[in-house]
Amino acid sequence: MDFYSTQITNLVEQLSRLPGIGEKSAQRLAFHILNMPEEQVAGLSEAMVSAKKNVRYCKECCTYTDEELCPICRNMRRNHRLIMVVENPRDLAAYEKTGKYEGVYHVLHGAISPMAGIGPQDIRLSELMVRLQKDVDEVIVATNKNLEGDTTATYISKLVKPLGVKVSRIASGVPAGGDLEYIDEVTLYRALEGRVDM
Ligand code: ZN
Repeated sequence: MDFYSTQITNLVEQLSRLPGIGEKSAQRLAFHILNMPEEQVAGLSEAMVSAKKNVRYCKECCTYTDEELCPICRNMRRNHRLIMVVENPRDLAAYEKTGKYEGVYHVLHGAISPMAGIGPQDIRLSELMVRLQKDVDEVIVATNKNLEGDTTATYISKLVKPLGVKVSRIASGVPAGGDLEYIDEVTLYRALEGRVDM
């Protein structure tokens, strides 16, 4: 790769650290960036640095936000007694796109996976339990329909049910092993509507 100048090589190397970016894609992106107007490149790098600096977990639901509370938790028209538990902010975004869910969320940032050494203490479960000290009618577990997602759902159900809070699980219809992110909105909405008590 040293047939490029050091700076280009460095740019290509940095880009190829991103997920899904192989060396060829990294080269393509690097040359694209070099052809962009300078203010666009500055905008891109500033957006990255400032997001990294300012984005944190929402104090309530643990999704990413640059304020203390995310817009969904701040919205008083949402039903704060209905909490949907998802694995990551991308899943939250997928459900928000259906435009049909009125409750709030809780983002775990992962799922329990004994194989990968990820236990209950490694995801944002204790934060969920704190929220359940307030009045909550139902916890909808919308973790992925795979081994980790199911393990997490069972674990949550065992924790939450003794508190007298209803726990439900999104319906089948979400393909086994399927990432929520890649499912269309109608399917997601049906999975939500057809949720079953745990
Ligand atoms: Zn929030």
